[in-house]
Amino acid sequence: MAMISNQMNLFCEIHFIFRENSIILKDGHLPEERIMRRCLELSAASDWFAEIEYNYSAIMLEKDEPNPAGCTDIPLREFFYRTSKDHKIANFGSLAARAMGLLNFRKNKRFCAKCGTQLVDDECFTARTCPTCKTVFFPQLEPAMIVLVSKGDDYLLARHAQRNTDVYTCLAGFIEIGETAEQAVKRENYEETGIKVKNIRYVASQAWPFPDQLMLAFRAEYESGEIKIQEDEIKEAAWFNKKDLPKIPGPGSVAYNLITGVFG
Ligand SMILES: [Zn+2]
Repeated sequence: MAMISNQMNLFCEIHFIFRENSIILKDGHLPEERIMRRCLELSAASDWFAEIEYNYSAIMLEKDEPNPAGCTDIPLREFFYRTSKDHKIANFGSLAARAMGLLNFRKNKRFCAKCGTQLVDDECFTARTCPTCKTVFFPQLEPAMIVLVSKGDDYLLARHAQRNTDVYTCLAGFIEIGETAEQAVKRENYEETGIKVKNIRYVASQAWPFPDQLMLAFRAEYESGEIKIQEDEIKEAAWFNKKDLPKIPGPGSVAYNLITGVFG
C-alpha cells in the first residue's frame, strides 16, 4: 500500500485531523470529509496524506491553527481510551495511532540519509523513496519498555524531573542496542531508582506514536535495594499502596493501563 498526498480526490470515509498530540472531533465523532477539505483549502495543515486501502485520510494542522468551526480537540491518548468505551469512535484507536505515526514519519524522514536528496512517497509501499539513489525508507518503530514494580500491595512510582512533573508514573525507557526487553527493565529500574527487580512478566504492548514508539509493558517484583534516585531524570520515587495512589497519568496512557489493571 502507498501513501498518497498529491490529490484532493480521496474516496476515503474516515478522516483524522490532528494538531500536535491532539485529535479533532465534531460532536464526539471523527470529522466529515468537508471539514478536512476546508482545512486544506485554508492551508491550515502542515501535511496530509491518505491510505486508500485503509480507507482513511489524515492531516496535521499547524501548531497555532484554531479548531475548525464547531469542533473540539482532545489528547490523542484520551482518544485511545475512549475508543474502547464510546460507540461513536469505537475501533478507531489503532488506525489513529497508525495515522499519527505516519504523519510523524513523514515529518522526520524528509531527506535521503545516503545522498541528501528530498524523499518522495513510495508508489508501492508505505515508505519514502529517494528519487536519485532509489533507497527506500520504511517507518521504524522504537521499542521502549515500561514496568510496574510491586512489593506486596505497594507500587514503585516516580515523578519525572523534566516532564509531567506533577504525576507519579511507572519507570520507563528505551531498549538499547543489544539488550533484551527484560534486561532494559532491570537496567532502567536500577539506574533510575536503585531498586533491583525479579520475576519480570510481559503484560501487553501498546502503540505510542509520540513519535514512533512501541511500548512493551511489564510487571516485576521488588528484589532488593533502597530507593536512590537518578536526580537528572527523576524528581522523586516512592512506594504507594495500590489502594491509596497519588495522581497518576491519564486514562489511555500505557502507565494508566498498567497501574489500574486495564492490561490485566
Ligand atoms: Zn538517495
